[in-house]
Amino acid sequence: MVKTNITMNLLKIQNLHVSTNNIEIIKGLNLSIEPGEIHAIMGKNGSGKSTLAKVIAGHPTYSITQGTIEFNGKSISETSVEDRALQGIFLAFQYPVEIPGVSNADFLRLAYNNKQKAYGQRELDPLSFFELMNQKVKQVDMDKTFLERNVNEGFSGGEKKKNEILQMTLLNSKFSMLDEIDSGLDIDALKTISSNINTLATNEKSFLIITHYQRILDYIIPHYIHIMKEGKIIYTGDSNTARELEKYGYDSINI
Ligand code: ADP
Ligand code: MG
Repeated sequence: MVKTNITMNLLKIQNLHVSTNNIEIIKGLNLSIEPGEIHAIMGKNGSGKSTLAKVIAGHPTYSITQGTIEFNGKSISETSVEDRALQGIFLAFQYPVEIPGVSNADFLRLAYNNKQKAYGQRELDPLSFFELMNQKVKQVDMDKTFLERNVNEGFSGGEKKKNEILQMTLLNSKFSMLDEIDSGLDIDALKTISSNINTLATNEKSFLIITHYQRILDYIIPHYIHIMKEGKIIYTGDSNTARELEKYGYDSINI
């Protein structure tokens, strides 16, 4: 009997090329992520890290000119942002947007109930939702007064980042991308968020951590670190890569 060893990638990107306004930003990128894996992407400003995350999430500004993105074995290149979110893809933005006039609690409840509905599960009324959120805010070490404020309005940089993690925790996504989540966070918040991520990863959730500082990688130990340069992954290493980079700089990696 032939033994087959089929490992199903959660995310599989092959030869991806992405353009916006006729400028090519991603230039032939390959990346595979399996359930329960934490990957980090590092690289200088302008190397295409945020673009990659936005393209995976389905941001309409960018067009895929070549290559494929598969999630759970199916192409997602043609699917909408909403559909990808429902399939379990989450992106915490580098620059979270403020939504004046919409309370954080209402916004989160809408997102949560949409997902519940799509999965044929129970939607929550404002009161039951508030109870659920009370636990979640504790989990991310956030004050519950943030629930009543408008989405990100007047939040400090670090508070906006925590709010992204609150959304992520609530939506319980299979695959979360965190773009420069460490910028603006104080060390205590960084530790709390990192420990949340480490716990989620042991429960088969997968992560793509985008950062250009090594600091967050002292708390979240990734399985792989990729270095991105000019729209490509030019090097993949283990968790020690970050320390080497800190010491010798990006230019020490030459291909
Ligand atoms: P990183 O996150 O690695 O700093 P980005 O993905 O934000 O890099 O950007 C990569 C390059 O693509 C940059 O040169 C940036 O100016 C350019 N770029 C990204 N988005 C757009 C856009 N919407 N229009 C024009 N250029 C863009
Ligand atoms: Mg960026």
